[in-house]
Amino acid sequence: MIPYGRHLIDDQDIKAVVEVLQSDWLTTGPRVGEFEEAFAETVGARHAVAVNNGTAALHTAIYALGIEPGDEVIVPPMTFAATANCIVYQDGIPVFVDVDPETLLIDPDQVEKKITSRTKAMIAVDYTGQPCDYDVLRQIAERHGIALLSDGCHALGAKYKDRAIGSVADMTVFSFHPVKHITTGEGGLVTTSDVNWAKRMRIFRNHGITSDHRQRERQSSWFYEMVDLGYNYRMTDFQCALGTSQLKKLSEWIKRRNEIAAIYDKMISEIRCLKPLCLRPDVQSASEYIQRENQSQGNSASTKSKSNHAYHLYVVRIAADSGRERAKVFAALRNAGIGVNVHYIPVHLHPYYQKRFGTEIGMCPVAESAYEELLSLPMYPGLSNEDVHTVVSALREALE
Ligand SMILES: *Cc1c(COP(=O)(O)O)cnc(C)c1O
Repeated sequence: MIPYGRHLIDDQDIKAVVEVLQSDWLTTGPRVGEFEEAFAETVGARHAVAVNNGTAALHTAIYALGIEPGDEVIVPPMTFAATANCIVYQDGIPVFVDVDPETLLIDPDQVEKKITSRTKAMIAVDYTGQPCDYDVLRQIAERHGIALLSDGCHALGAKYKDRAIGSVADMTVFSFHPVKHITTGEGGLVTTSDVNWAKRMRIFRNHGITSDHRQRERQSSWFYEMVDLGYNYRMTDFQCALGTSQLKKLSEWIKRRNEIAAIYDKMISEIRCLKPLCLRPDVQSASEYIQRENQSQGNSASTKSKSNHAYHLYVVRIAADSGRERAKVFAALRNAGIGVNVHYIPVHLHPYYQKRFGTEIGMCPVAESAYEELLSLPMYPGLSNEDVHTVVSALREALE
């Protein structure tokens, strides 16, 4: 079986984890800060706060923004449920805003229409790894005095106009689940340039307590204060050591993901009933990106600011008018040992959201009709060119 996503662990990673297991600190030790610093540097953020998964990272960010009962937060439906769930954890109200029909990224015109006096923030999701148009979203956020949170779980290693995702929005959330760009088993992190938000998040991930175990040990003190209701969202030292080791391979892996995407792009363009997702004008195609990466060894001839895709997912659309049923194509590929998937069932259609918030079919027609066409093909740095050809041959056969 060729899965849709898969981690890559090497001997350096294993060595880094084992060293921690033989040390004094399994959690709240020195590896946490080291990982946070390395991560912040990689994405050009001032602060990074590590937590135990991407969902906890979303919750932590929503808490730090001060979302309170009844506050509205704008969110696209074309995402994993956790992007909206984090709003509900703080008793906020998720307001679903439809996506652009070509890119399936949140539609800025629709965002503006859904802002009310109770709107406190919007969450941009860099779906599949393509960065949203942050300049436009930033203008809207500033015009209405709301926060801009990025769910960058698909976009570690992506750039928006030469700025790494993680340093563009007010806060950015990442996940280190095994299918994501780097893994720590389970893990997550929030980046921000705001020191007060960073402080709030460090307290929140530690039960709402203002000092941690190691700080108290250093000060030979037993005293601590819990100042707000927090959670135990801490990440262990062996996970952080794994994260630091994985991070060293990120740029190489982003390049490999783009190489795979370039092969898919070319082969898919020859299959009539398939459509790729469109790229926004400033986002380089996978083949452009590879070309520039190969050229940039030494000379930086072109200086026009560009965005690049992180290709967490490679999604194709089976044109609704092609007469091919997605369910049948999906089943045929699974039978052929190709672990295709579907990202995503629009969040507002889940029974929980329909029951609790009265969301229903017809609220986000673009996401709803796109959903019927979506198919995620295998995409991970360990995928060989031969595997990619196997996938596309099986896809061709399934379509026939
Ligand atoms: C993976 C993912 C999450 C959640 O991350 P976990 O680490 O699995 O909790 C949230 N949002 C998006 C868009 C994701 O892809």
